[in-house]
Amino acid sequence: MQDDVEGRLLYPIAEKFVSPQGEGRFTGTLMQFIRFAGCTVGKPFTNQERAEQQLPIYQERCTTYDGRSFACDTDYRVTERLTVAEIVKWTVSHNVKFVLFTGGEPLMRDVSPLVRALKHEAFEIHVETSGTIRPDLNQSFWRNLDWVCCSPKKGFLDAYADNGIANEFKLLVDEDFDWDKVPRSIQRKPSKICFSPINDEKTINQANVQRCLQLQREHPASRVTMQMHKLWQVR
Ligand code: SF4
Repeated sequence: MQDDVEGRLLYPIAEKFVSPQGEGRFTGTLMQFIRFAGCTVGKPFTNQERAEQQLPIYQERCTTYDGRSFACDTDYRVTERLTVAEIVKWTVSHNVKFVLFTGGEPLMRDVSPLVRALKHEAFEIHVETSGTIRPDLNQSFWRNLDWVCCSPKKGFLDAYADNGIANEFKLLVDEDFDWDKVPRSIQRKPSKICFSPINDEKTINQANVQRCLQLQREHPASRVTMQMHKLWQVR
């Protein structure tokens, strides 16, 4: 993140749009998506601005918490830089009460001023995170988040489970998924787990869906989710 000439915070944004949530507990709920640019997961980047650059979609590799590699299906390159006021102005222009911060990795940024401003407008705020950014629980904005979905990636921090930050854990499933490699901190929260198939670029991977359904039978408190937006052919 950087300041503009007047010293205001500027958030690097990849895209923003209104669409139904395609995954997790709120599947089908209309939300305002704000996709923050940049992601540090599985990359050698140490500099946040460099992390906003990425390879074209599906040439980027991502890594799960247990070291499995898969193709990132998200284009998180920066397209605009917006102030808090500009983002709030965009959100209040829609009659949709849910605002979702996604990425990339939204928590790479100091989102607290934005959370404060959006709560002032009575929005319900959801966040999707890789669980790899160390949380500073002294910051009050954590208490203002209404829903945190963590899909744990390489460098996952147990604090997201142990401190009750995440409301759900989306575990990505492919043929190499191994329950014994799921972090113990997450295993201890079975009702917060949802199994999600790693899909192909435009289609649902049915073999991985079947693996998710089998895992749910083995862990009955869990849920199964999948990327419904690919079926609905929306973003
Ligand atoms: S955490 Fe998400 S956005 Fe980042 S590389 Fe992985 S799949 Fe892509």
